[in-house]
Amino acid sequence: MKITILGSGSAYGVPMMFNTWGNADSLNPKNNRTRASILIEAEGKSVLVDCGPDFREQINKNNVKNIDAVLMTHGHYDHIAGIPELPRATKLLGHGIDVYAAIGTMAELKNSFGYLFKDKAEAEPDSKSINWKLLPDFGDFSISGLNLITCQLPHHSMMSSAFRYQNFAYVTDWQEMPANVMAKLQDLDLLILECNNGTEPADNGHSDLFKVKEVLAKINPKKTILTHLSVRVDHETFLASLPKNCLLAYDGMEIEI
Ligand SMILES: [Zn+2]
Ligand SMILES: [Zn+2]
Repeated sequence: MKITILGSGSAYGVPMMFNTWGNADSLNPKNNRTRASILIEAEGKSVLVDCGPDFREQINKNNVKNIDAVLMTHGHYDHIAGIPELPRATKLLGHGIDVYAAIGTMAELKNSFGYLFKDKAEAEPDSKSINWKLLPDFGDFSISGLNLITCQLPHHSMMSSAFRYQNFAYVTDWQEMPANVMAKLQDLDLLILECNNGTEPADNGHSDLFKVKEVLAKINPKKTILTHLSVRVDHETFLASLPKNCLLAYDGMEIEI
């Protein structure tokens, strides 16, 4: 399987508006972060996780050729704002796209983009189908032969869905990790994990290095890549402070496992 980090940034990207870089060194290209999203390529399928406001730019920059399915983690803007581009994507690809979301996230999508659930011709003439698929909050599901596990973690007032495929898992936007989630994340070769706040804890629904270390001590993945990084995080400075087997995501990073 191949994983591509399409976006490694927090909700407002790095730099934020008005070239606001915070702690991040503007001269290091690895600090230039679009909104968090990954592409998983396995068994001939291409699965996108989240579809934020930088979706079109990310697809083009990484030369992505196909998307079969989209997994949605939760209904915040930085994870869903590219959804209205999908009808055009189906037209360009010549096939439909399955979009998986848990019941709470699906409700947010309907609130935000109600017209996409009514008449596909209104969204994009000649488009193929967006097939809305309900994810369980917790349990197994499959995408045309790919068998995955999903579970949910508290994040602000929402629940955020995490995904496991074989010995890889993606966990973004979390503030605490319940024991029943940690039970699903044992024996991982690779964990990609949100660490929005770096070494500056904040009461903002996200994680930081201290929470990450507590979790890693319990689930002990072979390798961890931290993502959804805000302007609090400078790539080189933060990388130097990480435990072994822990790396930092950057846009365009590719991992084969
Ligand atoms: Zn987010
Ligand atoms: Zn969020």
